[in-house]
Formats: sequence, structure tokens, C-alpha cells
Amino acid sequence: LASFSSGTNRPVYGKVGRVPVGIGRRRMRVVVTGGAGFVGSHLVDKLIARGDEVIVLDNFFTGRKDNLVHLFGNPMFELIRHDVVEPILLEVDQIYHLACPASPVHYKYNPVKTIKTNVMGTLNMLGLAKRVGARFLLTSTSEVYGDPLQHPQKETYWGNVNPIGERSCYDEGKRTAETLAMDYHRGAGVEVRIARIFNTYGPRMCLDDGRVVSNFVAQAIRKLPMTVYGDGKQTRSFQYVSDLVDGLVALMDGEHIGPFNLGNPGEFTMLELSEVVKETIDPSATIEFRPNTADDPHMRKPDISKAKELLNWEPKISLREGLPLMVGDFRQRILNEDEGKGA
Ligand code: NAD
Ligand code: UDP
Ligand code: UDP
Repeated sequence: LASFSSGTNRPVYGKVGRVPVGIGRRRMRVVVTGGAGFVGSHLVDKLIARGDEVIVLDNFFTGRKDNLVHLFGNPMFELIRHDVVEPILLEVDQIYHLACPASPVHYKYNPVKTIKTNVMGTLNMLGLAKRVGARFLLTSTSEVYGDPLQHPQKETYWGNVNPIGERSCYDEGKRTAETLAMDYHRGAGVEVRIARIFNTYGPRMCLDDGRVVSNFVAQAIRKLPMTVYGDGKQTRSFQYVSDLVDGLVALMDGEHIGPFNLGNPGEFTMLELSEVVKETIDPSATIEFRPNTADDPHMRKPDISKAKELLNWEPKISLREGLPLMVGDFRQRILNEDEGKGA
């Protein structure tokens, strides 16, 4: 087994990226929690393609087997139905910890479960990392900056977060997860990595997950008005999923703990986003205003100088290039859904 050093049966966990076998890098055994979800499934594809052995842990709350079905039967791939709130014993080299609903609609659905996933789930994965000497990467979020009073946001900004609001299960949950990661690092010597991910889009997002890009794209395809919340002047910065996956792997394999902002600095108001979707999908698409949700951040844009300098990473795909790349996948799934309904 590639994860074991030659001549002994002792695993060499924790020597991530530094123990070449022959030519090139040593094959690793990698856990991806939340690997059946949108970002996780793209990350799994990249890890499998480069020759790693991948174990996915997922409870299928928002993830789908469909996202991974092309890997079923691949001996380098294993899918375990598991809730990270419960402990688990595995022998691995790296842990990418993504398990957590990411859409506000999903994470507000059962806020207590969301915070348990962020706190107990992260604790279990750090306990696992400590026991086997694995390197641990947390997918934190730009939401740790809350409704930011600094623009663009740098990693040094401590944020402006409501601790008792509807979004707190997620924002404060991720802030606690970051704290846990740093405490396991300082207290137990666990090698940790922290990514603060900004809004990301691409194929395999849930059709009706309530996030703005998936909503607008699905609405435009279905010939429904795009629902703009509030006055539509709030901003977000949208990153295509392959750029994010490249950043996560660069962070995991590099020598820097972070936190690192991983996002595309291209900033758009929701009204501008609706225009880009209109140009991309249907010039006759319309918009409809709806009341905004509580505590919605007014603006968000990453400062990515730190990731550029230390990870040699920056996004390559602009919104206008990336949006068309998700439209085929969305059209196909909407068609399947309509056929399923006998439409
Ligand atoms: P997603 O909802 O598509 O994927 C999350 C996955 O985690 C799903 O497969 C879900 O079933 C699984 N999951 C949830 N709770 C679990 C539990 N208790 N045990 C096991 N599995 C569980 O979301 P995504 O967009 O792929 O996000 C992945 C990660 O990236 C999340 O941690 C999210 O907070 C973070 N993130 C994403 C974005 C983004 O824009 N996509 C932005 C910031 C941070
Ligand atoms: N844990 C786990 N898998 C392991 C090791 C630990 O799920 O391989 C869980 C363990 O059940 C505990 C958490 O991780 O709930 C934290 O573990 P740690 O050893 O750090 O703390 P302790 O068990 O001493 O509280
Ligand atoms: N939004 C919108 N229409 C929608 C869904 C969301 O105008 O159908 C807005 C929402 O109010 C927020 C922004 O789009 O200002 C981004 O929301 P999303 O849920 O995608 O992610 P967030 O950045 O809030 O986590």
C-alpha cells in the first residue's frame, strides 16, 4: 500500500507532500468530508486524477451520489455515508474538511445541526488528524468577516459578525472551527491549513439551493424572472469552482497555515450579475425584486495578495468566462427534472 513506508508496516502519515517515492510524489490517502457536495466533488476529481486514494465522508444532506457516480467502481475511490458529528476511525495522510451546508437556505434550515457540524464535526476531524498525524485543511468562509467594515477584506480583518442572528450558526460556527484548528495546531502540533472561501459557482451546484448564481441561472433557463433581493446593489465576488479547487490543493500541499482568502476579486452588484446571466442565457430574461434576508452583508470582495504571494495562486476564470461553463449542466438537469415530472 502506497501510504506505508518501504521495509516497515508503519504508516508514514503526516509527511504530506514531502516524501517522494521514486520519481514524482508519493501517493497519499486523502479524506474529503462533504465530498459529495458541489465543491467537494470537484476536489475529489482533481485528487483522483493526480493519483491519490480518496475516501469521501458525507451524510448527503446537500450532497448527491450523482456528483460522484462516475467514480463508482474506481479502486482508488471510496464513499462512506457518515455524519461528521459522530467520531470515526480511519488511517489517512490528509483531511480536506468541507462537510457543512454552504447555502444560507440550507444552513438556516436546521441551525442547531449546522453549528454541531461546524463545532463537533471539526473537532472529530481534528481529533482524527491528531491521532494519525494527518494534515488538516478547513474550508472556512468569507462569512467570518460578517457585514464587513473594511473593503476589500484582508485576512487580518477580524470581522463584523452578529453572534445571535439567523446567519450566526454558520458564521460563528466557522469562526469556532478556525479557533479549533489553531488550538489543535498550537496545543497538539497538528498541521493545519485554513482557507476562507468567497462565493463560488459552477456545475453541480444544487439547482434550488437558494444561492444567487444557481437561482439566477435556473430561473433564466426556466424562463422565470430572476429574483433580486433588496435593492440589488449589494455586492459579491464570484469565483469559478476550478480556480477554488486549485487554490485548496496549493494550500494543502504548501507550507503556510493561513488563513488565506480564496476568491475572485471581480466584484458585482446583484443587478450586474443579473445582466451577465441575461447576456449569457436569455436576452429576454427579466428580474423581480423581493425583500432581502436578515443580516445580508452589503459588500464582499477578497484581497488575495497573501495567496498570490505565498501560494503563487490566483483565479484564472472571469464571471463572463465561467458562467457559460455551468449552463450546460444546469440545462441538462432541469430537462431531466421536467421529464421526470412527465412534462
Ligand atoms: P454543499 O452544500 O454543496 O456541500 C456540502 C457537503 O457537506 C454536502 O455534500 C453535504 O451533504 C455535506 N454535509 C453537510 N453536513 C454534513 C455532516 N454533518 N456530515 C457529513 N457531511 C455533511 O456546499 P459547497 O458549496 O460544496 O461547500 C463546501 C464547503 O465550502 C463548505 O464547508 C462551505 O462552508 C465552504 N464554502 C463554500 C462556499 C461556496 O461559495 N461554495 C463559500 C464559502 C465556504
Ligand atoms: N476522534 C475521531 N477519530 C479519531 C480520533 C478522535 O473521531 O481517530 C474524535 C474523538 O471521538 C473526539 C474528538 O475527535 O470526540 C477529539 O479527539 P481528541 O483526541 O482531540 O480529544 P478527546 O477524545 O481527548 O476529547
Ligand atoms: N440573492 C438575490 N437573489 C437570490 C438569492 C440571493 O439577490 O435569488 C442575493 C442575497 O441577498 C445576497 C447575494 O445574493 O446579497 C448572495 O447570496 P448567496 O445566498 O448566494 O450567498 P451569500 O454570499 O449571502 O452567502
